[in-house]
Amino acid sequence: MAIADLFAPITDLKGVGTKTAANFASLGIYSIYDLLFYFPFRYDELQTLPLDQVMDGQKVMLKGIVATDAFVSRLGYKKSRLSFKMRIDHEVIMVNFFNQPWLRQKIAVGREVAVYGKYNVARQSLSGFKFVAAKENDSGMAPVYPVNRHVRQKKLVELINQAITDFLPDICDVVPEKVRQKYRLLSDQITVYRMHHPKNTQEAKLAKRSAIFREFFIFETELALLTSSNAHNGKGIAKDYDLAEVNKLTKLLPFELSADQKQVVNEIFADLHSSKQMRRLLQGDVGSGKTVVAVYAIYAAITAGYQAALMVPTEILASQHFKKIDDLLRPLGVRTALLTGTTKALERREIYQELTDGTINVVIGTHALIQDKVIFKKLGLVIIDEQHRFGVGQRQALINKGNQPDILVMTATPIPRTLALTVYGDMAVSEIRHLPSGRKPIISAWKTSNQMDEVYSLMRKQLAQGFQIYAVTPLITESEALDLKNAEELYAKLTHDFPEQRVVLLHGQMPGNKKDEIMGQFAAGEINILVATSVIEVGVDVANANMMVIYNADRFGISQLHQLRGRIGRGQTQSYCIFLADPKTDSGKARMKVVSATSDGFKLAEEDLKMRGEGDLFGKAQSGLPEFKVGNVVNDYNTLRVAQQVAKDLVAQDPLLQKKSNNSLKQVLKYKQLAQERT
Ligand code: ADP
Ligand code: MG
Repeated sequence: MAIADLFAPITDLKGVGTKTAANFASLGIYSIYDLLFYFPFRYDELQTLPLDQVMDGQKVMLKGIVATDAFVSRLGYKKSRLSFKMRIDHEVIMVNFFNQPWLRQKIAVGREVAVYGKYNVARQSLSGFKFVAAKENDSGMAPVYPVNRHVRQKKLVELINQAITDFLPDICDVVPEKVRQKYRLLSDQITVYRMHHPKNTQEAKLAKRSAIFREFFIFETELALLTSSNAHNGKGIAKDYDLAEVNKLTKLLPFELSADQKQVVNEIFADLHSSKQMRRLLQGDVGSGKTVVAVYAIYAAITAGYQAALMVPTEILASQHFKKIDDLLRPLGVRTALLTGTTKALERREIYQELTDGTINVVIGTHALIQDKVIFKKLGLVIIDEQHRFGVGQRQALINKGNQPDILVMTATPIPRTLALTVYGDMAVSEIRHLPSGRKPIISAWKTSNQMDEVYSLMRKQLAQGFQIYAVTPLITESEALDLKNAEELYAKLTHDFPEQRVVLLHGQMPGNKKDEIMGQFAAGEINILVATSVIEVGVDVANANMMVIYNADRFGISQLHQLRGRIGRGQTQSYCIFLADPKTDSGKARMKVVSATSDGFKLAEEDLKMRGEGDLFGKAQSGLPEFKVGNVVNDYNTLRVAQQVAKDLVAQDPLLQKKSNNSLKQVLKYKQLAQERT
């Protein structure tokens, strides 16, 4: 059927080769479908206005006749200004374009042109953003897409239009017709067309409304399908754990659990004890002590005769958790194993064997845990840390390895309870709201690049006292190579600026054992400044490192900045976190302000959700929520609720999506799954 063509790679489009495909992949665009559903984050309104209605500083399109030739003045290396006069009725204004000298050839005296730009009333001049030959300008709304250095706006527009021309008729509706009628939603073909080519703001708004519903609906259907495929529907196995044994763990801990931790442990124990399957979300700030709580759950399950599995998103985190948990549980006779992508073949086979025969009580690992060869003897408890890093399907794959196991998912990016219910289905929510006592609040500050002296002098002061420093560069998700380059440059700079210190680079592409080695040295105090990409984001625990400098901090989202900051403030000494940034956008400035002003993760998460929105490329992937492209879970919460209900009803009626009318929905879900495996 035609819908299959949609999922073909974009190389099926005329003139698109593997190089373009690779570039587009950096935007997450692989197929024609991805392209068609890659929506603008805003539109430039290219409606022309009469000059006397234009306000000072307004962005506007002005139409007129070129009155003079264009004059280009060079302003320095690669910098230039192109100017010409434009006549609008009886007035003449000045038009300037910066750094686009090639426009000169388009500007001929007497030609009718339209220029989109920012108008300065006093100077009667228009600072041009976009040059439009008058006849091109009929739609009035120019889409602006999120792009990066590999893909230019123009190229993207070109391919999207090509895809629309050739493939729009192949798009089939995903939302059932009745629902679309009831909620006055557009068909998918019209939605797609108008998202890319709205005639006016109103049309764009309506198209977006439909696009949001569609997106939420697909997500909620996926969730509803998973929930319903658990045929037992919430039935689990009661675990008869041994409280006397569990108390031994309490004696081994070097600290007392905080009140919040105790409360959560109690909630979990009640779940384990009950014959209902535990489905619990544990929310707690970085460093709030979720891991210990997880250890209690693990040990309890083990004393009841079950195995446990803990899945985390990165290798570093896996080996850190492994060490901690092994240290705690080994004296109690528990057998713990670590399984990641870099586990050696021989050891791996051994682990498979011992998981199957039940010798291993608890396994800690990365995605490696969901491989087919991993078979448990009696998996009773599944814990997923930083759960938003995993797709719905990946979580389920691990869960399926047990017989209705109890499930605990943990996150350091909390979201409001009501939202959690809508986004994660039927889950109970536990929270650790207060950090363990005795921690000094971290002092945070936002500094710009011309305040570097201050930052360096604080760094020197800390280093002189024997403390260690993290220097972090952003993960620019589009390109790992670029991340590496940034980190390498920073490494060279800091090596040069701090010649008496040991500076070491740690990045995501290093082999796992190399990373471990470096982290080991850092933990042992042998490294003074650790330059890292955001691989250190989660889980690293070095108390003597009490300062962090985050470069280009405005390229991170709030929650990711907060996560990073959570690496310090772990000892008894005063910690400092410096956010270095010269943000150009308002949202960048707002992020820097809010994250340097508060370190309450629950508060930040809320701010983050509110602020997150159109065009905010860097806030998205790092949040504690599934990634939505058009919808905003806070602002569009009501739509989310409706979509959830509709999805639940649909799945209740057609649990395997066998009805013909649900076929395109099924295909889209299948494609989504494939896409998830790609990352
Ligand atoms: P999270 O996983 O929530 O980010 P961790 O479990 O890694 O936090 O805990 C952070 C640090 O706090 C660890 O070093 C841990 O040993 C310590 N910790 C946990 N609970 C307590 C407590 N109740 N009192 C003192 N220290 C604690
Ligand atoms: Mg943790």
